[in-house]
Amino acid sequence: MGETEDERTAQASQLFENFVQASTCKGTLQAFSILCRQLELDPLDYSNFYSSLKTAITSWKVKALWTKLDKRAEHKVYNQGKACQGTRCLIIGGGPCGLRTAIELALLGCKVVVIEKRDTFSRNNVLHLWPYTIHDLRGLGAKKFYGKFCAGSIDHISIRQLQLMLLKVCLILGVEIHVNIEFIKLVEPPEEQHEDSPGWRAEIRPSSHQVSEFDFDVVIGADGRRNTLDGFSRKEFRGKLAIAITANFVNRNTTAEAKVEEISGVAFIFNQKFFLELREETGIDLENIVYYKDHTHYFVMTAKKQSLLDKGVIINDYIETERLLSNDNVNQEALLSYAREAADFGTNYQLPSLDYAINHYGQPDVAMFDFTCMYASENAALIREKHGHQLLVALVGDSLLEPFWPMGTGCARGFLAAFDTAWMVRGWAQGRSPLEILAERESIYRLLPQTTTENISKNFEQYTIDPATRYPNLNSSCVRPHQVRHLFIDGQQD
Ligand code: FAD
Repeated sequence: MGETEDERTAQASQLFENFVQASTCKGTLQAFSILCRQLELDPLDYSNFYSSLKTAITSWKVKALWTKLDKRAEHKVYNQGKACQGTRCLIIGGGPCGLRTAIELALLGCKVVVIEKRDTFSRNNVLHLWPYTIHDLRGLGAKKFYGKFCAGSIDHISIRQLQLMLLKVCLILGVEIHVNIEFIKLVEPPEEQHEDSPGWRAEIRPSSHQVSEFDFDVVIGADGRRNTLDGFSRKEFRGKLAIAITANFVNRNTTAEAKVEEISGVAFIFNQKFFLELREETGIDLENIVYYKDHTHYFVMTAKKQSLLDKGVIINDYIETERLLSNDNVNQEALLSYAREAADFGTNYQLPSLDYAINHYGQPDVAMFDFTCMYASENAALIREKHGHQLLVALVGDSLLEPFWPMGTGCARGFLAAFDTAWMVRGWAQGRSPLEILAERESIYRLLPQTTTENISKNFEQYTIDPATRYPNLNSSCVRPHQVRHLFIDGQQD
């Protein structure tokens, strides 16, 4: 006897639920592939995938998610998924900003391929969310994928949870995701052009993967701090020595743990009394500390060098920060004690047991990073032209503007840049002149380092990829086309 209609609906709904509940990157991709196979959906049919999926999964439980995504997709700027029809985009990096950009480009109707060099989402560290990012993620169904998302007054999320939910939204919207693929460099179109000559392509590792044959019109560098795309010079902001320590402890979700108050960084920076007492009692000297109770108990603090030397965390004093913080100059045991002692004092000894969570390498999850030099790209985008093929190249996220972790601006500014980039791709697909869209992009990029929760528009409901909906004092022509001529790189200049 064949399956009844009800049985088929229930089975489809269960397969979708397995996908929604998957808790790892690999598990999500696997559940997605099973879902597509069983329901005979073709994930490569990117422009119809979302509507086919909606037709296949009709349970009441999923309806609320479709309603949310439909509402987003209805924004006029996407022109019903036709605004960028035919535009092919490669995104390098499946971090939060690469994935968030992928979602926007998919909604615009682009064919989007994301390559990610790893196949695990393992960062316990926690990102601070601005009110608009919470609103944005809710609009993408965050709560359906992660029930605990921003419950009550909580305004943060672990990096891996954020990646996981964005990955799921990407897949639902027909984005093609390939893990264990590393971008190496761009490959120019060949000189000899005939009808089926390749256009712009990517050299990747492993080189035999099918993505190496993907021709694209847009490439987005979202590969984090160490951007691999050529042509972007970096501005360096050198401040005074700033050493940040991150530490994650196991959260057993007991009542005692639930009672301990979080320490929100922005407010705490000014609490001098706390830092004096900490120094007197423990010898630990900090400039700030943040504590978020998330999947783990997460702490990020900026420590003064002398106290790290005094407490034996740093072995020898060197002028060059790289040498100062190199592995062989750091006593790992002393670092573990230092961060634990600071966390214990910071929470008034109320956390019952501060056992380190284990990181991806099987080690206690503590790390020390140098923020003395922060980098930002000089420009946000450029256009390359070779043998008749134009390529729009853009950066988003940490590749564009490196955040200072204790302030947690990475994801908030990262998403703004993701939207601005999608806006530029839309202009590009509409056939606006290259210099005009580059000038507009650079004008908008000038605002990014100054954005705060206070000076962006509070009307989150109106937010779209159109920058005018987000930046109240936008002047999108402060950079003039003639000022960005150097960002149009044609064959002769190479
Ligand atoms: P990322 O999140 O860095 O993602 C980049 C992605 O690109 C990664 O998944 C990487 O594997 C992939 N990739 C890199 N090179 C290639 C390549 N050649 N080919 C293919 N894929 C590639 N911010 C905070 O506010 N607080 C913190 O405590 C904090 N801790 C962090 C800890 C670590 C180890 C790192 C790397 C970053 C941390 N950040 C933290 C920064 C924060 O994660 C980012 O601001 C945020 O995730 C947005 O970044 P992104 O998407 O631009 O880049």
